[in-house]
Amino acid sequence: MLKGNGICIHPGITCGRIFVPDTASCAPACTPWDPAAEKAQLQQALQAAKAQLSQLIEETTASLGENNARIFDMQLLMLEDASFLSHIDAQIDNGKSAAEAAKEAADGFAAQFAALDDDYMKARCADIQDLSQRLVRILCRARAQAFPDEPFIVAARDLTPSDTVRMPRERILAIVTHSGSITSHAAILARSLGIPALAGCDLPFDRLQGREMLVDCESGSCWVDPDEATKARILSKRQPEKETQPELLIYKDRPAVTKSGRRIGVYANIAFPEEARTALLHGAEGIGLMRSEFLYLGREDAPTEDELFCAYRTVAECMQGRCVIIRTLDAGADKALPYLGLEKEENPALGLRGVRICLANHALFRTQLRAIYRASCYGNLWMMFPLISSVWEVQQVRSLCRQVRQELMHEGIACRDIPLGIMVETPAAALISDALARHADFFSVGTNDLTQYTLAADRQNAALGRYADAHHPAVFRLLAMVAENAHRAHIPVGLCGTLSSDFSVTQQLLQMGFDELSTVPEHILPLKKIICESEVPYEGIPVCDPR
Ligand code: PEP
Ligand code: MG
Repeated sequence: MLKGNGICIHPGITCGRIFVPDTASCAPACTPWDPAAEKAQLQQALQAAKAQLSQLIEETTASLGENNARIFDMQLLMLEDASFLSHIDAQIDNGKSAAEAAKEAADGFAAQFAALDDDYMKARCADIQDLSQRLVRILCRARAQAFPDEPFIVAARDLTPSDTVRMPRERILAIVTHSGSITSHAAILARSLGIPALAGCDLPFDRLQGREMLVDCESGSCWVDPDEATKARILSKRQPEKETQPELLIYKDRPAVTKSGRRIGVYANIAFPEEARTALLHGAEGIGLMRSEFLYLGREDAPTEDELFCAYRTVAECMQGRCVIIRTLDAGADKALPYLGLEKEENPALGLRGVRICLANHALFRTQLRAIYRASCYGNLWMMFPLISSVWEVQQVRSLCRQVRQELMHEGIACRDIPLGIMVETPAAALISDALARHADFFSVGTNDLTQYTLAADRQNAALGRYADAHHPAVFRLLAMVAENAHRAHIPVGLCGTLSSDFSVTQQLLQMGFDELSTVPEHILPLKKIICESEVPYEGIPVCDPR
């Protein structure tokens, strides 16, 4: 019996077979190596890549003209290149999986191109890498369907939100990882899906496939091949599904008003449209953060305008006039979108992330903006932009929003002039929040990133514990500054990071003047109770509630 310890991400006790997904290398997870099968998969992947590229060329020709579409020619040529293909075959004969072989052959070709004394040829490295990623993605997807039929425990060193989104979520009993922390996105997703999860576990993940695991997220422990006595002892602690306490239920349809008469919006954070219903059942007065990027993860290509429109319309209608704040695509860092073909970064959390990706890819951004504006007539939608650090970014996104709205109106499509706010989650945004407030209709503070960037403590790293402290006075000074600057400019200020679930600081947040707190649905009722019992006076500048 092997024991591991970690930090609790989402509570629960369970036991089941381990499934170690193939996340990083895409090598087959403990399946015997069969070169003929690998080569057959490779042939299918080559055909699929050709079909994808032909479609891309067609779409790019239609939108940007033939010349721009020629950037994909190189990839198509490589797919037919005898030398490239024989290198992949040779790697497979050497014992590699098709995905590993394709990657290694492409890396070798890219290195040769990079060494050439010709700028044009050097620049072709990016095309080869793009093709390699395309092939690996297709091959991974072929394998990704091989999930166990029975419910299973996912155990992995690293697990990105995309990995989780790709799995059959209804069959996941628990998630156990080495990477991640309470505020990492994979953890946020596990909580959102209600899956018991542990992070920071040091286990020999490459030797766990198919073994039995007992997971106790209450105590933060797990056991591989547990003995019967341990199983009986831990499983006996399991409680039947908790009913909502009656003293909390009275807050379900009540607004949260402090004893001094201040009304605070208590909203829900969601990732998927279907969670809006859960939010309502838990008494949410609105959606304070819809992490829209989850609609983009775990797929081969970006969602279409219609797909997005349907998702936003579903949430807007479900919330029946209550405020729904959609955060525009916050991809990058641990939420990579391979189909965007972005270059690998040394420090992705400090790289092309959040609004930066959208400002670098207008076509992608406009599709989302059109979908949000089209859905705006079906409810009370607001929109906010992630990872803002400068005024010019807000000016640019506002200008794009104006253009998209005008375009839709010219097409005869009705849309509303919805509030446009920003997330304050970089120290820069907090420090210039007085200036930003002149360009934003509201603020919502993301304490997960604000903490990570203020304290230089990676939110993905479970070992940083004490360093990634959202209670740090530096973070609190920034929070107070943001709330004050928002009110000076007469705009509302909310908080949608994990700190909103930390009831030990709710009074302080109210004292600072936060107008709205957005949290996971199951924390809404206890949060409303604390607010209704709060005697904390607020002496700052009052703000009119535009909701
Ligand atoms: C945050 O950073 O606090 C936030 C709410 O955004 P996310 O956790 O999705 O990065
Ligand atoms: Mg954030």
